[in-house]
Amino acid sequence: MKVELARIAGFCMGVRRAVDMALSASNGGDRPVYTYGPLIHNPSVLALLDVRGVKVLRHIPACGEGMVIIRAHGVPPGDKERLISAGFDVIDATCPRVVKVQMLARHYSAKGFWCVLAGDRGHPEVVGIMGHAEEGRCILVDSEGSVGALGLSGPYVILAQTTQDEDRFDRLSGLIMDRYPDGRVFNTICDSTHRRQEEARRLAMTADAVVVVGGRQSANTRRLAGIVEECGKTAIAVETEDDLDRKRLAGFRRIGVTAGASTPNWVINKVAREIEATPGVFEPVWRRVAYRSVRFLHESSLCTAMAGGALAWAAAVALGSSLVPAIPVSFLYIFAMHTLNRLIDREAGAYNDPLRVRFLVRHKSFFFGASLIAILASLVMALGLGFRPFLMLLILTCLGIFYAAPVIPAGLRRKALKDLPGSKALFVSIAWAAVSVIVPAAARPFEPVRLAWFALACAFVYLRTALMELLDVQGDRIVGKESLVIAIGEAKTLQLIRTGAVALAISGLFLSILGQFSWRPVAFLPASLWLYYLSRFFSGARIRENLKLEFMVESGFFILLFSVVVMSAWG
Ligand code: SF4
Repeated sequence: MKVELARIAGFCMGVRRAVDMALSASNGGDRPVYTYGPLIHNPSVLALLDVRGVKVLRHIPACGEGMVIIRAHGVPPGDKERLISAGFDVIDATCPRVVKVQMLARHYSAKGFWCVLAGDRGHPEVVGIMGHAEEGRCILVDSEGSVGALGLSGPYVILAQTTQDEDRFDRLSGLIMDRYPDGRVFNTICDSTHRRQEEARRLAMTADAVVVVGGRQSANTRRLAGIVEECGKTAIAVETEDDLDRKRLAGFRRIGVTAGASTPNWVINKVAREIEATPGVFEPVWRRVAYRSVRFLHESSLCTAMAGGALAWAAAVALGSSLVPAIPVSFLYIFAMHTLNRLIDREAGAYNDPLRVRFLVRHKSFFFGASLIAILASLVMALGLGFRPFLMLLILTCLGIFYAAPVIPAGLRRKALKDLPGSKALFVSIAWAAVSVIVPAAARPFEPVRLAWFALACAFVYLRTALMELLDVQGDRIVGKESLVIAIGEAKTLQLIRTGAVALAISGLFLSILGQFSWRPVAFLPASLWLYYLSRFFSGARIRENLKLEFMVESGFFILLFSVVVMSAWG
């Protein structure tokens, strides 16, 4: 089934900030952690927070202890004061954009203006904003019918709940201004909401139906479904992939997928992937076969292993090693290590790529056995090259197996090597470069060109792994995994990848221009520029589609191989 994902969907800035604050608080020790009311309107996230020990405080007790997180919707100032007086430490996760509306309500009502708030009656954000205005100076308007009963006398301002529909707000404020001209309009609708709604309209134009993913209580999710229906298309609201009616979906040719601001990426991806996997009645057989093949390559780690094989092939051509066993040793080693690590470390994968985890778990015995055979086969091949290659591969294999296993002595904060901040990109880059460059030629005397190629390959794999970590950031953050992206943030990681890709391209070029190692280093130029392009592509506001993006990242190794083969042919 053809699926088009909305370019803007999932956690908005305010929700992501609130969830991050709650997750950080839950990592902070033994003190109880609460959210004042449900943090966001999404059952998957609430269930996750519950598992992490973050409980919901529905009423403020006379006395209490621990931390209380105020959700992104905000609260009236009186609630915050009562929480503090009860003895809680309060973490205010009110979205800065909601704070701006609260401040406007406070400022204008204190100056004697009426505040007319366009919003949904009873919504926590509305309750919070009204609580910031002077007593009795804020009036809620939730329909065109309620405009007539306003009875305004004197100056007033019109404000909007941040998730209101633009068209509806324009209509309401136009009606009010026609009736009571002495007013001023502040369009306080969040641009994130606006862009989401525009994207839902665009999807409704191009798709036959649009699946809207989000909690049933989420106002902005319901509004997205309403927009799709206003455009004359079918809107299918679901909370998770379990709500999908596959029979109904099969009758559409093209399905759009969008989601409310409180829907996590892992839920959106699961829904999108389930729809993709649903055979459509109009879908040609070749498309179904192609999709299943691509998905199998991705979920079985064969795609990653092929990338490792391509790196070894490129190194063998550049350094004059024999292609056999260099390519199979690298392919088998990388296949085994990635499969075993994914089987051992399934916690973050359950959020980042749940379908892959489900696939691996379903065929656990097969993949476990296949990994052991791959390890043995690669060791036997390495032994055929000599004792040194065998020993080196054995060390790399032990490191690879113990990377995710709890081998660090009890009593220390970190349990496994994978828990060391930023360790994954470093370990993976050294292992890939060593197995593809050093192991095949380890029996030969030392050559400087091998060291140079090892360093360039290491840097290349490091940048590739940092890009992959960007795909996994949401799940890693949830389970508290300290990846490079978590340690330095998404923006800095992207900057590091860009700078690294440019530095790698320039280093390769200069080494070749200076006559060092002939054409070999410059072969990294096209592949580095590809990584640079991907870093820009990743920074666009789009949902991380693991399947497609992982293939794009791994294709960098085939670009490298192609460059090496072409350059070696030209000499
Ligand atoms: S939708 Fe906008 S205002 Fe509301 S929480 Fe998200 S970023 Fe903040």
